[in-house]
Order: sequence, then C-alpha cells, then structure tokens
Amino acid sequence: MSQVNVPVVRNILQANERIAAANRKRFEDAGIYALNLMSSPGAGKTSLLERTIEKLAGHVRMAVIEGDLQTSQDAERIQRKGVQAVQINTDGGCHLDGNMVQIAMDALDLGNLDLLIIENVGNLVCPAEFNLGEHDKIVILSVTEGDDKPSKYPAMFQQSSVLLINKIDLLPYIECDVEKIRRDARRLNAHQEVFEVSCRTGEGLDAWYAWLEEHVRDHRKR
Ligand code: MG
Ligand code: ZN
Repeated sequence: MSQVNVPVVRNILQANERIAAANRKRFEDAGIYALNLMSSPGAGKTSLLERTIEKLAGHVRMAVIEGDLQTSQDAERIQRKGVQAVQINTDGGCHLDGNMVQIAMDALDLGNLDLLIIENVGNLVCPAEFNLGEHDKIVILSVTEGDDKPSKYPAMFQQSSVLLINKIDLLPYIECDVEKIRRDARRLNAHQEVFEVSCRTGEGLDAWYAWLEEHVRDHRKR
C-alpha cells in the first residue's frame, strides 16, 4: 500500500467505527444481542444458522442479516426456516461494513427481536477489520480447511469470542490436528470459547446453543 493511501484507509475505518457505535446503541436500546458470524466460504455459516434457528425457535425472537457477494440463496435458506432475513448483496465486496448493516436494520422490526445474527461475506481476512456494532464476533473453521488457519489469519481468531470447529464428523477421513487449532487459537486469544461441532450430525452443538442462550438472556431488556 502506498503512503498516500494510508490516511484514506484510516478515515474509512474511523467513519465505520462511528456508524458501528450507532448500530450498537440501537441494539442496546432494543435489548437485542447481535453477533457477527465470520468464516471462509463453505465452512458452515448458513448451516449453523439453520441448526440454531431450529433449536431456538419458539423461545428466542431471531433475525438474520445475510451478507453475500451476489446471490440471495442463503437468505432464502433462512427464510424457509420461518425467520426474518434481510439480504445485503455486496456486489463483489469482500466484507460487510457498519453502513450496510445500518441500512439492513431498517428493514427489521427491532422492537420484536432478542437476537440478530449477521452472516458476513465468506472471507477470513478483512471482515475482522470492520466493526458492525455487534456484541461478539464468532468464527467458524471447518476441519477440512486445515489446522494452520489460526496462525495464518490471526486477526479473525484474536477478535472472535467463540471459535466453532465444524465438520468434526469428517475427521476420520482427513489430516487435521484439532489440538493444534486449539493451541494456536488459545495463544491468540486466551478468553475464546471453543466448541467442536458438526452441523451435519448435530454433534457438539448443545454447548453452542447454551452459550448463545445465556448471552441472549444477558442482553435482553428487563
Ligand atoms: Mg452462507
Ligand atoms: Zn473486504
């Protein structure tokens, strides 16, 4: 990056922080717990959402903002589960920012929500740099991606409150050292909760649901 561009990038990030703070205030005022769900493409973000919706339906009022490069396929998958889903097409953009989320929020009935999950664009790099106003970032890493990802993409793992290691049902068929993932992630973020799960079989997801429901309860307006 040339020196000329550095102040421009800084201004963009500062402007984003202001919008993210305004988003956060709207979440707080409404008693909504907001999550920013990040991973590379195909790690299982939408599958986790489908499972989570099935589990929480009936006692948690939930909506999803779907970030996608081009299509609305993921938003349609979510809507089929009977949950409000707003689509943001980034038109090739590789991450969501605070402004996109602010616009999408206007399409939601915030007064009737307990939980908002924002599915970011599939990418392990820049989504970690743009605050959306969320309370927590969640990262999903599929075991098929390899055990070197926390050390290669540290920002994502440093900032995420939860690491979901997904597709553990495939471990017998691939080379992936889950203990190495845990060790490297712990070095980057000692406070991170780590759950080993399979969104296909449902294994390990109860611990994730429990974590999530506890946080929804803590943020609900009393
Ligand atoms: Mg998806
Ligand atoms: Zn990006």
